Amino acid sequence: MKDMESKVASSSCCTPQVSLNTKETRQEEPAPGNKNLPVAIIGAGPIGLAAAAHLAERGQKFILFEAGSSVGQNILQWGHVRLFSPWQYNIDKAAERLLRKQGWQSPILTELPFGQEIVNQYLEPLANLPELAPHIMLNSRVISISKKNTDKMKSANRAVEPFVLYVETNDSTKRFESRAVIDASGTWGHSNPLHADGIWTREERNLKDHIYYGIPDLSAEQKQKYTGKRVAVVGGGHSAINTLLDLAKLKETDLNTEIIWMMRKNSVEEAYGGEEHDQLEARGALGRHIHQLIDAGEIQVVTPFMIEKVSKHDGRIHIKGTSNGEAKEIQGIDEVIVNTGSRPDFSFLGEVRLSIDPATESVETLAPLIDPNVHSCGTVRPHGEKELRHLDKNFYLVGMKSYGRAPTFLMATGYEQVRSIAAYLDGDLEAASKVELDLPETGVCGISSAPNANDCCMPVSSAKTSCS
Ligand SMILES: Cc1cc2nc3c(=O)[nH]c(=O)nc-3n(C[C@H](O)[C@H](O)[C@H](O)COP(=O)(O)OP(=O)(O)OC[C@H]3O[C@@H](n4cnc5c(N)ncnc54)[C@H](O)[C@@H]3O)c2cc1C
Repeated sequence: MKDMESKVASSSCCTPQVSLNTKETRQEEPAPGNKNLPVAIIGAGPIGLAAAAHLAERGQKFILFEAGSSVGQNILQWGHVRLFSPWQYNIDKAAERLLRKQGWQSPILTELPFGQEIVNQYLEPLANLPELAPHIMLNSRVISISKKNTDKMKSANRAVEPFVLYVETNDSTKRFESRAVIDASGTWGHSNPLHADGIWTREERNLKDHIYYGIPDLSAEQKQKYTGKRVAVVGGGHSAINTLLDLAKLKETDLNTEIIWMMRKNSVEEAYGGEEHDQLEARGALGRHIHQLIDAGEIQVVTPFMIEKVSKHDGRIHIKGTSNGEAKEIQGIDEVIVNTGSRPDFSFLGEVRLSIDPATESVETLAPLIDPNVHSCGTVRPHGEKELRHLDKNFYLVGMKSYGRAPTFLMATGYEQVRSIAAYLDGDLEAASKVELDLPETGVCGISSAPNANDCCMPVSSAKTSCS
């Protein structure tokens, strides 16, 4: 970290404004005034709230900004989806200690919650605790972060200046100073496109009325939109499978419902995952169930399909692309549901010196641990504050966002990240460096030697999957 800062400092020509001697090393310590500033946390998802719980336990000042009108905003978008990890892996330890002090009753740890239950039974009670509630600002979107009186290019005094956060609230834009930033803003809401090249086209953006990004709740008002229609689902991960299973249920009520599954994978078998070998039983069941539906001919599969163009003709969608090098066009689609994963939003981090891996867009040091291009899912190891550092000291990306585009994030991994960071910010270096992760083991990842980027897979002994 110090080395990285030194490199930046020494790159200016003529007389460096920051030299590399020991005096300058001392400049990296927070300025005396900074110590009284809070740690800023961005996002009241499970990981941002866990960060708040750890800082609260340690008596550290913090302020949490949440863009939505309630906590768990992103999870609420998929509240109807059942998680595949049971409660025991979804509750942070510090959060649990604080909750229990107020008489909170833990859910049954072996049960699989719905997203909505994670919010109602865990995140909301946590956010309402007296240790957290006064420090959470809802309806507060962070729109920019910088260093005080210092733009990205300036190195002088950079390490000692506090961060400044610009936050849009209902009626104004406010400015806050902080001694550290923990960005737990997730990646949900920043979907990848349906295009096989990963690029957004104007045509696709203009079809928002017919294209849904995410897992629609087909038990509610969305039901009408898809019943009896010809629906294309794009993507090869567990979110796509969740969507397909829900559509198959709709088809039981109206046989005119047509389901087409499009993905880049070479064969549909690659999408089934570990099935009965998956030690997360619920996730294995997803693969098993979809396998049965495909065998029964309930879903038409188009794979590999490299989508190049989407357009609208006479009120219906046409999707063009190639399959094994041959041109292919699927016409007459009523609705499209895209489950191609998501990507991190760096738009408000333009003035922060980040260390981001160019391929995964994860925190740079994490990339070799999670890159689905090279990773057989068997070697993800626990990581903490040290691995999560950026060029700007005391700035951290955590949670789903720390994994960038990699689809393998799990809540339990994020809880360990923020435990370690809170310890570090409290000066407890021993606790910060002792990272441990308790996750179920699985043999799933042995099944594919080159998993595709939107697969959900699970390492043999530690952190593993998600589904976006
Ligand atoms: C369908 C689905 C199923 C999953 N199932 C599991 C599972 O079974 N087990 C598991 O461990 N993991 C699962 N995951 C993965 C992951 O654990 C979750 O996505 C989890 O919600 C990530 O938590 P987070 O706190 O990092 O981000 P999020 O939950 O996405 O929270 C981010 C928060 O930040 C807020 N925010 C965003 N931008 C700003 C801003 N600029 N300013 C202020 N606030 C902002 C958002 O409103 C949101 O409240 C699943 C994911 C999905 C999508």
